[in-house]
Amino acid sequence: MKIVVGHLYPDYLNIYADRGNIAVLSARAQARGHELEVRPISLGDAVPTGIDLFYVGGGQDREQALVAVDLATKADALREAVESGSAFLAVCGGYQLLGRFYRDRLGSELPGIGLLPLSTVAGERRMIGDVLLACDWAGGRTLAGFENHAGRTHLDEGAEPLGRVLAGFGNDGASGFEGCRAGRVYGTYLHGPLLPRNGWFADRVLADALAHVTGEEQELAPLEDELESAAHAVSAERARRRGGRF
Ligand code: GLN
Repeated sequence: MKIVVGHLYPDYLNIYADRGNIAVLSARAQARGHELEVRPISLGDAVPTGIDLFYVGGGQDREQALVAVDLATKADALREAVESGSAFLAVCGGYQLLGRFYRDRLGSELPGIGLLPLSTVAGERRMIGDVLLACDWAGGRTLAGFENHAGRTHLDEGAEPLGRVLAGFGNDGASGFEGCRAGRVYGTYLHGPLLPRNGWFADRVLADALAHVTGEEQELAPLEDELESAAHAVSAERARRRGGRF
């Protein structure tokens, strides 16, 4: 089957190898006999119909400011797509813009599109380092990655985090949680890129995109993932050893 990915602002929000996430999704789709078609959606572009999975990466405050106003013009189309079952993976700066707003260190506030129940305010010191999460919603499986953000993200009451912080800062360095998920929408600070070292999660996102294609919930049979598991182990060890320290 063909899975269509709408890659938002690939020329602006791509700061930490986010293209690697797209490459992993493509490889893992092909490994199951599916095809991934990636359509860039940038400044001034209309949101095409028929997108199964949206992806938006990370960026500095400057790039976020460049895309925030344009993203607001796409909000209704993105919301309708998500309500019709499209999946969404948002990383770091893109994650922040899926909330209600991102307020930078100078106090200027960028509008978000309110797809995720959260808001973000930049703090003085950047939260940089390796991070390890436990995802109770996925049977306790772990996610390992790298974070680099000034933003402190606060989830609304009742919002679902992506995971519990086992090592690292997470959303705000205090709540003990990282990221946010709502249905088939996932937001996270984990860069690195995220997906090469977290095969199970790549398959979760891919299965959600496939569910949009077929109209039926999907589970993908796991792949060998020896290299991915080894990369995960290295990343997890680093996080336990040195995550969450300024
Ligand atoms: N500019 C945002 C922050 O500093 C997001 C950074 C990023 O995408 N890595 O929090």
